Amino acid sequence: MVTYSRSITLVLTHDCPWHCGYCGFRSDREGLLAEGEIDRLIQEAREGGAREALLISGERPGAMPHIQEELKKRGYQDFWDFAGRVGERCAEAGIFPHGNFGRMSEEELRRLRPFYVSMGMMLESVVDDPACAPEKKVAGRKAGIEAAGRAKVPFTSGILVGWGESQRSRLQSLEVLAEMHARYGQLQEILIQRYVPNAGSRWPAGCAPTLEEYREMMRAWREWAPGVAIQIPPNLESRWDELLDELDDLGGISWAKDEVNPTRPWEKLEQYQRICEAKGRELVERLPVYASHSGEEWLTDRWHKRVKKFWKESEQ
Ligand code: SF4
Repeated sequence: MVTYSRSITLVLTHDCPWHCGYCGFRSDREGLLAEGEIDRLIQEAREGGAREALLISGERPGAMPHIQEELKKRGYQDFWDFAGRVGERCAEAGIFPHGNFGRMSEEELRRLRPFYVSMGMMLESVVDDPACAPEKKVAGRKAGIEAAGRAKVPFTSGILVGWGESQRSRLQSLEVLAEMHARYGQLQEILIQRYVPNAGSRWPAGCAPTLEEYREMMRAWREWAPGVAIQIPPNLESRWDELLDELDDLGGISWAKDEVNPTRPWEKLEQYQRICEAKGRELVERLPVYASHSGEEWLTDRWHKRVKKFWKESEQ
């Protein structure tokens, strides 16, 4: 089996105070996703059969004065209150929210845990980009991933490849993730995500890993963190099918655009199904939270019951 998640993305805001070299996502003064647009996207998700809503934002938008003003006008205490309430609206519509809002403290993660079935943040690399946000320096990202472990949040992380890094640093980055997982057990999957420059990215694309380098990373990961799934997004790595023997997951697949990599739309689901079948693998839908993290240790009582109910109903 290879898994995927049928998902739709809600960008709570692109606004971000920082200017990371690879970023093609950020904006300065877009403001928050409008209330009507939240309703429209949730409706679209329901009609499109999405199980997952991926909710994302720039890094700490709640620290920006114009966002603070807008939050106040719209009756939210702060950005986490807004993110929690949008997550709740998705949950009420029967969709499982997965949040990725950059680095969060343990307290912030605990605040959002009742509203999100799982969360994530990429480690990206153990090599610092001097231009990136302070929170996104290696120490900050590691602190965020560790905080997720302490807060008992089922977590997705991963590394960014193809921006000029060495194979050695890719393996070191995976080793750091595996070490954190050995301490806290929070990782349910990791992405090996190919870097794709978008409009606004200042970094050019570097050399992508060779297939043998991908395989070396995947073998190392299996050894260091057995049972933690490996995802390669097929819209970002065109050779994904050649790695199917080692791959567990294709990640979120949507009929809507990839909000982080808008130049890389997904193929139709049937196309991925056909390719998997031709290679002897069955493409199967999953929830944003993996079975490994669906127990009471990781989920609040409400999420635990909902996930159990979902799987029971799916079996009937
Ligand atoms: S990568 Fe994240 S922190 Fe960096 S500029 Fe883009 S949105 Fe902001």
